[in-house]
Amino acid sequence: MTHPEAALAGKEQPASGRRRLAEVDTAVVKVGSAVLAGDGRLDPSAIEALAADMATVRSGGLRVVLVVSGAVAAGYAPLGFDRPPTDVVARQAAASIGQPRLMHALVEAFARHGLATAQLLMSAEDIEDRRRFLSARHTLLHLLDAGVVPVINENDALSDDEQRVGDNDHLAALVTSVVGAELLCLLSRTDGVRRNGGAGERISETHDATLLLEHVSDETSTTGVGGMAAKLSAARIAAGSGVPTVIADGRDPTALLRILEGEDVGTLVLPKVWDGSARRRWIAVRSRSRGTIIVDAGAAQALLTRKASLLATGIVSVEGTFTMGARVEIRGPGGAWIGVGLVSYAADEIRRLQGRSADEIDRVLGYRYVGEIISRADLVIGPPL
Ligand code: GLU
Repeated sequence: MTHPEAALAGKEQPASGRRRLAEVDTAVVKVGSAVLAGDGRLDPSAIEALAADMATVRSGGLRVVLVVSGAVAAGYAPLGFDRPPTDVVARQAAASIGQPRLMHALVEAFARHGLATAQLLMSAEDIEDRRRFLSARHTLLHLLDAGVVPVINENDALSDDEQRVGDNDHLAALVTSVVGAELLCLLSRTDGVRRNGGAGERISETHDATLLLEHVSDETSTTGVGGMAAKLSAARIAAGSGVPTVIADGRDPTALLRILEGEDVGTLVLPKVWDGSARRRWIAVRSRSRGTIIVDAGAAQALLTRKASLLATGIVSVEGTFTMGARVEIRGPGGAWIGVGLVSYAADEIRRLQGRSADEIDRVLGYRYVGEIISRADLVIGPPL
């Protein structure tokens, strides 16, 4: 059967990708200020509904990173404005008032559902700079492993227009690649893209966000900055790294759960290639290998069969000069190929650590970043892609 959106995408569509959303392990969920602070005040019932939805999907095993807007929206009234200011510095000041209020409301609401939250305020540099990118990645993965819900916003109080990502839809798309998430959800006050500038029927699924632009009238809500065009641009970024996006209505307290159950909610933008290997590809194509780590037979076995992290104890030698975050090849005895990964320490540090246990890292280096040389999340075992 031809899918109704087939014509739009310009080709025959395969069966709906919706069902595959149930397999997602890690998602980035962006909730706009129009949902959480529609009229310049934080809306406790919207925050409570978000916490409840999140608790349900978390109990189903989903790892979620939240990207939340609303700092400026929650801060301009206390600063004496009757609408969001346009001056850069006034916005920064409003954000510095609103961000702790927003976070306080989230912390309390999530705690009522037994969820711990963490805050990360990011700017464009945290994603563009490789060291900071990895630093953010390691912190986020650690939080997710611990069952905590990281909450991210742009560092609005300290970012001027040049340092800003600018809108949280875009920030959320970038965060998707920071954590290697398999799904991006953009929750706002619209139930997806509708034909004819919002007046027509909802478009359920497409392979090409650009084709949807013609259906978008570029109005934003009074509190949000992004609008639908920004959401589609974010969806294109995510699609470019193999990640699907769902644009849906965040005022529906069960939106997230229903998306993850494969229900026809919002607009799904599918990547051209969606084979579940976004994370693998991200590591594999990220850059060329800067060196090689040779491991002993025991470590080779653990990496190949148990999906273990690479620890210093199994390392026999290190070839090349590279910094923390570099991609390296991993080979076993006799040079047998094992895979590639992103290192958590520099080459000379790994040489000093090789053959030693994780407990010795602090004593040998004078600090300890993480216990693994390459964490499991940063490893791609198997033949080169
Ligand atoms: N970071 C801004 C805030 O919290 C919002 C940006 C956006 O709405 O995309 O106010």
